[in-house]
Amino acid sequence: MNRPTLYHVATLGCKLNQFDSAVMEADLAALGMSPTADPAAARVVVINTCTVTSAADAQSRQLIRKLRRANPHCTLLVTGCYAQRDPKALEAIAGVDAVLGLSGQKGLKQLVVKLVPETPEQPACLESADDPLPLFSDQTRAFLKIQEGCDLRCSYCVIPSVRGASRSVDPETVLRKVALLAESGFQEIVFTGVNTGDYGKDLTPATTLAALLRSASEITSVGRLRLNSVEPRCVTEELVETLQSSPRLAPHLQIPLQSGSDEVLGRMRRPYRTGLYRQALETLRGKIPEVGLGADVIVGFPGETQEEFRQSYEFIASSQLNYLHVFSFTPRPGTPAADAADPVRGDVIRKRSAELRALGGHLSHRFRTSFLGRDLEVLGLRECLPDGRVRALSGNFIEMALQARPQDCMNRLVRARITEVTPARVSAVPC
Ligand code: SF4
Repeated sequence: MNRPTLYHVATLGCKLNQFDSAVMEADLAALGMSPTADPAAARVVVINTCTVTSAADAQSRQLIRKLRRANPHCTLLVTGCYAQRDPKALEAIAGVDAVLGLSGQKGLKQLVVKLVPETPEQPACLESADDPLPLFSDQTRAFLKIQEGCDLRCSYCVIPSVRGASRSVDPETVLRKVALLAESGFQEIVFTGVNTGDYGKDLTPATTLAALLRSASEITSVGRLRLNSVEPRCVTEELVETLQSSPRLAPHLQIPLQSGSDEVLGRMRRPYRTGLYRQALETLRGKIPEVGLGADVIVGFPGETQEEFRQSYEFIASSQLNYLHVFSFTPRPGTPAADAADPVRGDVIRKRSAELRALGGHLSHRFRTSFLGRDLEVLGLRECLPDGRVRALSGNFIEMALQARPQDCMNRLVRARITEVTPARVSAVPC
């Protein structure tokens, strides 16, 4: 029997990139290739890069060099947002065989057939040549792209110039893929996009994210649906009521804040102020008491004074937020904020980031502790911790160590009781 041709896809960055990688994995599987977790064993290595910060650029370059060193003979392809933004920089790295921008990902199969002689020239189709079902080879949670691009122009953000204007996947396609993913065994499907709250505005007839969620949650084979991230101005009454009324929708939202200072939000060109943001959180908490609420925050935006940082810190500390993703500002070429004359010093950014991360840890611990002794529905992930317990995730985004046999809970939704909460870990037992 012929040995399968192996591929390895390495992904950096956001859940949208994870979705794009899963689509590329499906393309490679449709060529008769098999995945491997070991990049050194792969015939084809694909690196899906991120460019959201200069640190992400550096990480992408490092990963390319590392995987090329690990596997000098593979065909090494680079794609993703960095590849879209600056393909020449990546082509210049020794050992890169080809660079594909985001739209170039559709041509991955043809490129692999051309570059790798042992792949069949007439690839078999998984679903259809242009529309593969994403393949998540080692996960229990599937990410499904429902929207792409963004119509906003936040002054620090390179994403609209990389991913273009907001476009929605039509509801029939989304619902068909939800059903297929559920039938193929995924217990949790995460809707992703650059700006998912704008879902449906560009369609004819126009529709809304809440309407899509209602239709998807009526598919009975679906275990749990989760939204990835929603802009504060998109937390509408309709969306909150939809989240409240369907047990299949995870009680969880990540709502980018970026700063808790109105002056900084203005300079960032964010289309809301802290009053609207606080109102959105309070409405969600009032209607869905157990909801898990998270935020992205950028520290050290140009001109951020100590007073503005303090306002931001206090806004977050007094808010309903339960966890934070803290990012240090880095200028992205071509964005207005990159040319700002008043950058914040690196040591100041590091100190402020550490303060906010400590605050995020405190908020998270307080939230998790409030569930001590209570029962939650959790999904057992396909991963055991070093102590043999199973990693599990609740609907409201509490990660825990579940004391259960893997065969009883992996890729299953089960009820679990929280038995212990420490700053580092939540422990639970099935109930
Ligand atoms: S909302 Fe702002 S930060 Fe988010 S992708 Fe659009 S422009 Fe970038």
